Amino acid sequence: MTAYDITLIPGDGVGPEVIDSAARCVEASGVAINWDVQMAGDEAIKKYKTPLPRYTIDSIKKNKIALKGPVTTPVGTGFRSVNVALRQSLDLFANIRPAKIYPGIKTSYKKVDVVVIRENTEDLYSGIEFANRSKELRQLIALIYKTKNVKLRVDTSISIKAISHHASKRIAKFAFDYAKSHKRKKVTAVHKANIMKFSDGLFLSSARYVAKRYPKIEFEDRIIDNFCMQLVQEPSQFDVVLAPNLYGDIISDLCAGLVGGLGISPSANIGNKYAIFEPVHGSAPKYAGKDKVNPTAAILSAAVMLKYLGEDDAADAVEKAVKKVISGGKYVTYDISKKPVGTKRMTEEIIKYVRKCR
Ligand code: NAD
Repeated sequence: MTAYDITLIPGDGVGPEVIDSAARCVEASGVAINWDVQMAGDEAIKKYKTPLPRYTIDSIKKNKIALKGPVTTPVGTGFRSVNVALRQSLDLFANIRPAKIYPGIKTSYKKVDVVVIRENTEDLYSGIEFANRSKELRQLIALIYKTKNVKLRVDTSISIKAISHHASKRIAKFAFDYAKSHKRKKVTAVHKANIMKFSDGLFLSSARYVAKRYPKIEFEDRIIDNFCMQLVQEPSQFDVVLAPNLYGDIISDLCAGLVGGLGISPSANIGNKYAIFEPVHGSAPKYAGKDKVNPTAAILSAAVMLKYLGEDDAADAVEKAVKKVISGGKYVTYDISKKPVGTKRMTEEIIKYVRKCR
């Protein structure tokens, strides 16, 4: 059997613990992998004085696929997000975030099975920002006054929400292709096109344009605020949800909340050339090194990676093992049980069942 070369990025905070669990589950599934371990985040800053060393990007470019742990991003100041940098520089334009209820998880809902397909490269994440009182900001304010006759204060800061037809069309096509190949029935586009007529308006018109080519898949759209209310009231009405970058980020955490929390929510970042698989959750710094957090989100992200590699039986074995352990309710972490075990113990139990399922 030939081994796959895959970049492994433990990240920081709880990242190394959950990525270790995920890598061990992949190994238990019998798929041979050469892990190419690379740094990002705090450890990389200590060693290379940058959170995203060139070696890490080069490794992903060589191997084409990475399994990645979360990376801390400073709030308000400091460097820009490693995640955003990776998604933009590798053109990982589609972020897939499935959320479904696993038996054994206590939630207020009977049925949730939603997949959020989030545009991953533009919108308010484009990183084009103007600090208040800066020279560029004054120039921009002058331009806005000249072209729009709107006078902004000089103590204003501005972030650009850039949405293109190109990126909107390709993410809409991705969402419909995903719905088709996963036998899903409906795509719901979310937006605020009633207010942002050009940016969100373009996202919506691009989605409508693509929808016409998929007559067998139902298409609808919702204004984001109404969508959030409906999602919380009756999540079973939604199937595939197509969203621009920022709304997609927020609603996928909301979906994680509906199905039992961030500890069980996987994700995949897919482009035409490269793919990175990672849990939806962040580095949860307060739990770092405490053998506390749920490894499931990272393990399920690895299962999505196995599917992407065409290793369907191994992916199914990992998912079945996760289901078995969660529904058993005995060897699960604090977010699922009042009598929890640690990350390592839960991982051992999942590995045991992965081996049995193979
Ligand atoms: P977070 O996801 O790290 O944690 C929020 C809370 O969710 C935690 O306090 C914990 O209660 C719960 N949680 C998270 N992961 C869990 C798990 N595996 N098991 C059980 N409970 C879990 O979000 P945050 O505190 O807002 O962000 C911390 C840092 O992570 C920030 O710097 C942020 O920028 C970064 N972040 C990184 C990524 C990424 O690398 N992809 C994603 C989101 C946030």
